[in-house]
Amino acid sequence: MKLRRAPIESLEVDDLVFAVRWSRRRRTIGISVAREGGLRVLAPVGVPARKLESAVRAKLPWVHRKLAEFESLGPPPPRPRFVDGERLPYLGRTFRLALVDAAERPNAPVALRRGRFEMARDLDGEARAAFVRWYTERARARLGARVARYAPLVGATPAGVVVRDLGVRRWGVCDGRTRVVSFHWELVLQPPAIVDYVVVHELAHLLEPNHGPRFWRRVAAVMPDWKRRRGALSGGGHRHTI
Ligand SMILES: [Zn+2]
Repeated sequence: MKLRRAPIESLEVDDLVFAVRWSRRRRTIGISVAREGGLRVLAPVGVPARKLESAVRAKLPWVHRKLAEFESLGPPPPRPRFVDGERLPYLGRTFRLALVDAAERPNAPVALRRGRFEMARDLDGEARAAFVRWYTERARARLGARVARYAPLVGATPAGVVVRDLGVRRWGVCDGRTRVVSFHWELVLQPPAIVDYVVVHELAHLLEPNHGPRFWRRVAAVMPDWKRRRGALSGGGHRHTI
């Protein structure tokens, strides 16, 4: 009788070690690189190890590129503390936070008023969540308006605009099947010119799914200075978070 070998939990390819996550639902082999450097292989149950290895090998140039990219970003910026006087970003600027008595902010715990953020004093552990809600609401309003402005110029109207958390690597995403464009709520921490670039980029994807020359021609037709804007977006210092 042959012993069945337990599925492997990690895979070493050259000098890199990948954690292997087996999934019953997956049909294809996936590879991911986290900003902190974590490497993962997502594998359908039953795929032999040598097949995993050859899939990883084929993607090694991409993995190295990603690792270099994250390296150049440096460590993620420190999270702000929600204390009096802390500076918090919005549309490329920063505004000081003033803690106010809860009675002054009965309806919404966070507001931007008279050039400063106001937050109810007693939020404690809820402060970040309250700010995320505030940014998400602002992002919905702003991105809705900017999509409405740029859609006729690009020549593509999405079926819907969604604002949500897209993780640490994406600012926007376009679903070619549903024709819904989604944006990260953190986009409203960026300057308006950058927000608009991401809007035009995702709208152009409704017409051209890939980043080929035709895609960039469409972006350039609406936004001739797209390269400068994109450069500012990928430049490390601009990835604010809260
Ligand atoms: Zn794209």
